Amino acid sequence: RPTPPATAAAWSRRDTHPVNIGGIWVGGGKPVVVQSMTNTDTADVASSVRQVADLWRAGSELVRLTVNNPESAAAIPRIREKLDMMGVPVPLIGDFHYNGHQLLAAEPACAQALSKYRINPGNVGFGRKKDLQFGQLIEFAIRYDKPVRIGANWGSLDQSLAAQLMDENSQRADPWDAGRVLREALIRSALDSAEKAVEIGLPRDRIVLSAKVSGVQELIAVYRDLAQRSQFALHLGLTEAGIGSKGIVASSAALAVLMQEGIGDTIRISLTPEPGQPRTQEVIVAQELLQTTGQRAFTPMVTACPGCGRTTSEFFQELAKVVQNHVRGKMPEWKISHPGAENMTLAVMGCVVNGPGESRHANIGISLPGTGEAPAAPVFVDGEKKLTLRGDNIAQEFVALIDEYVEA
Ligand code: SF4
Repeated sequence: RPTPPATAAAWSRRDTHPVNIGGIWVGGGKPVVVQSMTNTDTADVASSVRQVADLWRAGSELVRLTVNNPESAAAIPRIREKLDMMGVPVPLIGDFHYNGHQLLAAEPACAQALSKYRINPGNVGFGRKKDLQFGQLIEFAIRYDKPVRIGANWGSLDQSLAAQLMDENSQRADPWDAGRVLREALIRSALDSAEKAVEIGLPRDRIVLSAKVSGVQELIAVYRDLAQRSQFALHLGLTEAGIGSKGIVASSAALAVLMQEGIGDTIRISLTPEPGQPRTQEVIVAQELLQTTGQRAFTPMVTACPGCGRTTSEFFQELAKVVQNHVRGKMPEWKISHPGAENMTLAVMGCVVNGPGESRHANIGISLPGTGEAPAAPVFVDGEKKLTLRGDNIAQEFVALIDEYVEA
């Protein structure tokens, strides 16, 4: 019989205030939400609509856009309208820095069309203006009934707070190292801003916090601390994670540790796509991270061996890719017609050494012939050998068997 996967059911999620972001719940023990961000010029409505729709189709449950000038603020309601006409209901988040208070004042339709405002407390102004402008942003959130993410970032740390903490540190009998002082500045920036927002009148269940850094160990330390010191819902992400595999590995390493400890209510993988890779790659990686760690299921997972000297060709690797692409492509349809298909496990293996065993653990698996083996590929369904495929059409026949299995 297929081996049931160890799931995250036993994980104890941190108790946080649930936040409703345009109908998507973040926090309060709800499943961890996947979000992403566009890299188009927001003022270019057609390109932005296209990319938001692509990200949503790939599985992004929230999409953030830069709102940095009057043109982009004016574009937001048009983007929302076009997405609605296309049947793309994904909530949009506006990313504001420096001039958010002015843009929201000038474009009420933008303030209304967005489902959440992201505010970076290090980038809302300086000196006396900082409190005033931060207060204005929060008042817009209250007026338009929107949640806010207070998102502190290592790269735009509130310098006056950092200087104040450096001063305080120099008075300590046992001073902290500089890294710890900066981490504390980041955490305090997020927490103090959240408390200020609450004082102004924003309810706690309309606030999400984040405090992003680009180092794995620093991120883990910051979020463990943040989680201990508040009950706000937390957005996780390793900022500026990097390009390609480095970004994927670093993000996964940091986020997996935190989520294993129940920390994190929504995630973004801040990936710099490799040339030729679509923006949607970050959504796939986020989903795979949640699925491989047993928290959520999005698409059937394919177990495949790496191949070795026992394999006669790379056919099984190609087959694994064909199978993964096939089930991923089918999921939007299966989600509606065959809910639960996303929990299915598949195996594509290269020889008899681990092939039959691994295939038996899966719902449906195939063991291709290795060096010296007869040219036959046994297929296992629910732990039993069901039939053997041979010849040139193994890929098509195996894919058809998967479809039949889902249908059945
Ligand atoms: Fe090599 Fe066979 Fe193991 Fe695949 S299952 S890695 S082909 S020994």
